[in-house]
Amino acid sequence: MPIDATQPYDDENIFAKILRGEIPSSKVYEDEWAFAFEDINPQAEIHTLVIPKGRYVSWDDFSAKASAEEIAGFVRAVGHVAREKGLVEPGYRLLANVGQHGHQEVPHLHVHLFGGHPLGPMLMRR
Ligand code: AMP
Repeated sequence: MPIDATQPYDDENIFAKILRGEIPSSKVYEDEWAFAFEDINPQAEIHTLVIPKGRYVSWDDFSAKASAEEIAGFVRAVGHVAREKGLVEPGYRLLANVGQHGHQEVPHLHVHLFGGHPLGPMLMRR
């Protein structure tokens, strides 16, 4: 079920629990600003999620409220993970779903990193 991205941050969301180490994840990378782990239900050969450590519901929340340091740290972490996975030369796709129409299911900002093969057209036809 897609979430309402205008809701307040819920500390019990599944990615908050992953950040606190309360549930397991396949960790790929971690620094002061970000945590990356493999998606539990991969939609491509490589499907990694990168999340900020701060309490942000969505890209909207993050872009409006995060500090310049948090934004820079998060964006650099996404790029770092893609480079570490060898995805720059073949190419890759980033996706951040927001709210109902974006079909966001987890109310903690996450960027999907897809790669490993040609990914096809950007969106399903309406
Ligand atoms: P979204 O629709 O953008 O909110 O995507 C949520 C993503 O989180 C989906 O691709 C799920 O497969 C993934 N996901 C949900 N729970 C977990 C989990 N415990 N560990 C890793 N990925 C998860």
